[in-house]
Amino acid sequence: MGTTDEIMQHHHMICLNCEKTLPIRFCPMSETDVPGGFRVVKHKFEVFGYCGTCAEAPAQSSSGRES
Ligand SMILES: [Zn+2]
Ligand SMILES: [Zn+2]
Repeated sequence: MGTTDEIMQHHHMICLNCEKTLPIRFCPMSETDVPGGFRVVKHKFEVFGYCGTCAEAPAQSSSGRES
């Protein structure tokens, strides 16, 4: 297991339309002040929005979804 790879896998941008998940490199922990001597052992970071494909196409909100 590579530590660096593991960190990156915890950071994602998730498309609300097609549910595509894109890994991101930004780590908010590096800019977060940890209060009270709290010892962080793990974290994850998820950003929700629309991917490039879905951002261009109008969202089909009422098309019923299957799963
Ligand atoms: Zn999408
Ligand atoms: Zn991180």
